[in-house]
Amino acid sequence: MKSLNIILMGPPGAGKGTQAKKLIAKFDIPHISTGDMFREAMKEGTPLGKLAQKYINDGHLVPDDVTIGLVKERLSKDDCAKGFLLDGFPRTIPQADALEEISKEIGRKISHVINIDTPVEELVRRICGRRVCKVCGAPFHIINIPPKKEGICDICGGELVQRPDDNEEALLVRLDHYNKQTAPLLEYYQNKGLLTTFDGSSSADLTPKLIAFLEGK
Ligand code: ADP
Ligand code: ZN
Repeated sequence: MKSLNIILMGPPGAGKGTQAKKLIAKFDIPHISTGDMFREAMKEGTPLGKLAQKYINDGHLVPDDVTIGLVKERLSKDDCAKGFLLDGFPRTIPQADALEEISKEIGRKISHVINIDTPVEELVRRICGRRVCKVCGAPFHIINIPPKKEGICDICGGELVQRPDDNEEALLVRLDHYNKQTAPLLEYYQNKGLLTTFDGSSSADLTPKLIAFLEGK
């Protein structure tokens, strides 16, 4: 099988995180989510977390130099030698250019760029109803994936909360950044012959398709 150095792309709410968790379990590669890394740093109150918080909660992008430094460090770790799945990075052209450099340095070329395409109305519905466990991070949705007991995580019993940037106002800012800064990356990877787009309107149907695609079937 071809080595798996994957980029998962798509607007906020397309289901990148959900698909990523299933793919990394199937292919046993590390999940590198810049959003998760920033949220972890914010939870711990590190200098990185404090800086990121100023941007994230309002829906803005964290500056490129900070984000690129973080990913570079992560991709240099040993566990990435067997492949990796990048989720939410790159999000700008400068980040994509930096990733080219980093992948040359570590000797792992990007093998697949998966774009999960989802209509805007669906993104708004998903994000505004999304709840996450404060303790283990498991995702729920008040209508699509309701927990057994309202406000409580099925997995660990933790409290379910709304991400501070999962409100309509911050979402509009995120979508605007996506359209202006991230969407141009589709053409960038299309031109390199790496892009494949999938319909993200149904999460359950999508996973087997992605697995078959990555297995080269
Ligand atoms: P979503 O795709 O639902 O917006 P993520 O968890 O991927 O969520 O990202 C959450 C936030 O973290 C983004 O809105 C942005 O502020 C910040 N972030 C994540 N990845 C990047 C990145 N590659 N560049 C800049 N900011 C990022
Ligand atoms: Zn939990």
